[in-house]
Amino acid sequence: MDTLFTKIINREIPAKIIYEDDQVLAFHDIAPQAPVHFLVIPKKPIRTLNDLTEADKGLAGHILFTAQRLALELGCEEGFRVVMNCNELGGQTVYHIHMHVLGQRQMHWPPG
Ligand code: AMP
Repeated sequence: MDTLFTKIINREIPAKIIYEDDQVLAFHDIAPQAPVHFLVIPKKPIRTLNDLTEADKGLAGHILFTAQRLALELGCEEGFRVVMNCNELGGQTVYHIHMHVLGQRQMHWPPG
């Protein structure tokens, strides 16, 4: 079953795309929780962080590095937060792994 994010990758539904390469796609979150809030997703459909394998280690690093690079490009050099929700208890709603990047406001701890 395709998720929403596979449909965004395949351009079947629109998104405000920031960056794309052969491995990842980044786009603005539809319900931003900060002045900057975008998602970095792998093109490979991995359901949850629990499904990552040894073979995905390079891809996981690429997602993180893409998040950092785009955060800086979007003016978050003073600080930003990355979040990956895993499964129901972790607050995941879309079952295609994604890294949230939030910036340009003060973050607080603990998160909700
Ligand atoms: P999570 O709750 O961690 O699974 O995050 C899913 C995120 O996807 C939420 O922040 C949603 O606002 C976001 N989202 C859902 N649908 C879309 C969409 N069509 N375009 C962009 N972001 C979306």
